[in-house]
Amino acid sequence: MKRGIIYLPDALTRANITPSAPRGSRTDGRIIESRIAGAHLRYLILSDIHANGEALTQCLEAATGHYDEVLCLGDLVGYGPDPNSVTERVRELSRIIIRGNHDRACVGLLDPGEFNPLARWATEWTRRELTLENFEFLRSLPMGPLSVDGFQMVHGSPLDEDEYILGPVEALTNLRAMTAPWVLFGHTHHQGGFALSPKGHFQAIRCARLMDGEPKIVKLLDGYAYLVNPGSVGQPRDGDWRAAYAVLDLDEKQVEYFRVPYDLAKTQAKMRAAGLPEPLIERLAFGR
Ligand code: ZN
Repeated sequence: MKRGIIYLPDALTRANITPSAPRGSRTDGRIIESRIAGAHLRYLILSDIHANGEALTQCLEAATGHYDEVLCLGDLVGYGPDPNSVTERVRELSRIIIRGNHDRACVGLLDPGEFNPLARWATEWTRRELTLENFEFLRSLPMGPLSVDGFQMVHGSPLDEDEYILGPVEALTNLRAMTAPWVLFGHTHHQGGFALSPKGHFQAIRCARLMDGEPKIVKLLDGYAYLVNPGSVGQPRDGDWRAAYAVLDLDEKQVEYFRVPYDLAKTQAKMRAAGLPEPLIERLAFGR
């Protein structure tokens, strides 16, 4: 694996090619050099932020100094009260972002009729709130899989951007079909993942009861296939209300999973002020 080189499909490149180029500028090249030339390359992995600005703030604060690049696995918006500020911050932070199903629904690329009534309500609210610039930015996001430095990013699964990899059945199908050894995925809002050994031994990666800001470290072994879910920044559903994120360290060949508390009451107050549905406000406290 060559450090610092990022491969993006031609049509999807929206990253800068040199350290001095402005972020978000387009290139025609397939090979994009990372701005980082240091000894380490660590990716901060954010997924399913869902317009929760307070949760995003805490993740970034906790991860300060611990990463070189930011990756986003989609669902920047939908559910939460801060669609514009979250979109703008992620756009500023990260040059490697793929779309999620809520991003698509909020910008008219997916029929929100496929969602439950509460999610649909939040989708329509978000669509009305988004500035034209943010709407167009979300609409322009590429779909996964996106190949970066020898691994892949997807929202749902490598086979289907809308698939939920929740258990062994879906995980095994995807682990066996993977064309990269490590795939980062989101969509389920469950932190953890799955691994398949060279001899076909399947293993779930569980992240129960992490201490605030203390990582669970998973070594990425040669020959294994890994599906890695950083968890949801803004609307966890794995029973832990705290914001979730992960750091992928290419040189150490490891993933570090983190949980950090955030100002939940502030997010909930903003949602109430925006008139978002009460069950969506309450579920944040339960991490469901
Ligand atoms: Zn989501």
